[in-house]
Amino acid sequence: MKAVDCIIRNARVAGTGNVRDIEITDGIISSITESSQAGAKDIIDAEKRLVCPPFVDPHLHLDAALTVGNPDFNRSGTLQEGIRLWGEYKKNLSIEDIKSRAYRAITWMVSQGTTFVRSHVDVSEPALTGVKALTELKSELKGIVDIQLVAFPQDGIFTFPEGKALLEKSLAMGIDVVGGIPHNELTREDGIKDVELVFALAEERDLLIDIHCDETDDDQSRFLETVAALTIKKGMEGRVTASHTTAMHSYNNAYTIKLIGNLARAGMHIIVNPFDNSILQARGDSYPKRRGITRVDELLAGGVNIAVGHDSILDPWYPLGRGNMLHALNLLIHIAQLAGYDELVSAIDLITGRAALLLNIQDRYGIEEGKPADLIILDAADEFEAVRLMPECLYVMRSGKVIARTEPSYSTVELSRGREVVDLNFHS
Ligand SMILES: [Zn+2]
Repeated sequence: MKAVDCIIRNARVAGTGNVRDIEITDGIISSITESSQAGAKDIIDAEKRLVCPPFVDPHLHLDAALTVGNPDFNRSGTLQEGIRLWGEYKKNLSIEDIKSRAYRAITWMVSQGTTFVRSHVDVSEPALTGVKALTELKSELKGIVDIQLVAFPQDGIFTFPEGKALLEKSLAMGIDVVGGIPHNELTREDGIKDVELVFALAEERDLLIDIHCDETDDDQSRFLETVAALTIKKGMEGRVTASHTTAMHSYNNAYTIKLIGNLARAGMHIIVNPFDNSILQARGDSYPKRRGITRVDELLAGGVNIAVGHDSILDPWYPLGRGNMLHALNLLIHIAQLAGYDELVSAIDLITGRAALLLNIQDRYGIEEGKPADLIILDAADEFEAVRLMPECLYVMRSGKVIARTEPSYSTVELSRGREVVDLNFHS
């Protein structure tokens, strides 16, 4: 009998509907089989629960996480007050402060199934403290939690004299992705220059791109078309992401149809951030109020890759959050009206495979023989139940090692038919 390190028995393998045994050897998924006959030191019985690759959070601001209430709570709940409060907070940043808050946020996220994170880091701050702190944390967590860092010019690149130099300097400090914020520049012309500089820097250093793009309700904010055009002209298909793109909600249909065609041709990725944008957008509207979300259904139908980000955890922009990607996805399902059955069962792709594609980690991500044994076991029978119940994540495994474990909770009731344990799974 061959020996393997671990067998996960009775795993409902995500995306297949099949119940299988997963054998793990030397940190790799060595076999996925109907019934394993191997011997193993460790055996985990998944009891037909859903086993999928760990969640990916492709858009987070770790440097601002867990700062809510300091120096004050956001009393108006607006983006502008959030930026002002963060501007106050960042005058006193220290490496220790950022690392301890970010580490704590990551423990929350890992315990709920996320082990791949793309975090933006503010590079508008003269000492680049955030970059130093998060690059240190990234190497400390190497192989356990993969952190990609985006240089994010929060205050704009051309709005103050040092903006461009700070962005360029940060890229030599362990940054993986170049970011921009064209809609925050002083003029439309500067917004175009912002995008052009991001592409030039990414090309020069062979980095990915992720731009905060058109995060406004202004239907005239149209930097996304420039991002798509440069992606096509420079042959950077697959390497470029635009985050938020909330202005698209308000574009006219003739313009949007053309734009979505170009985004698909460019192989671009779009990230939606339902927590922050549902709260921050359309603040200038009276009633009816628009939804602060890009056109998710039309983009998916047009062949554009979409993923969901958590964006904020307890920061000046979003005062809630616990680092749970299923919660973010569940909110998006509601506000983007992804309630068709096929949309519901495939929704989990928006925080797994589709997000992995955008991070460019697809070669080493997924429940497949030969790939690293990175997986989670959710307390749910299948994909439908995962998005409905937002269940606990019972096991989180990286390279065959269990790095987080949660005891499943249960309730009992005593009604007219005696005492029973409640099973919230509708499918089982
Ligand atoms: Zn953001």
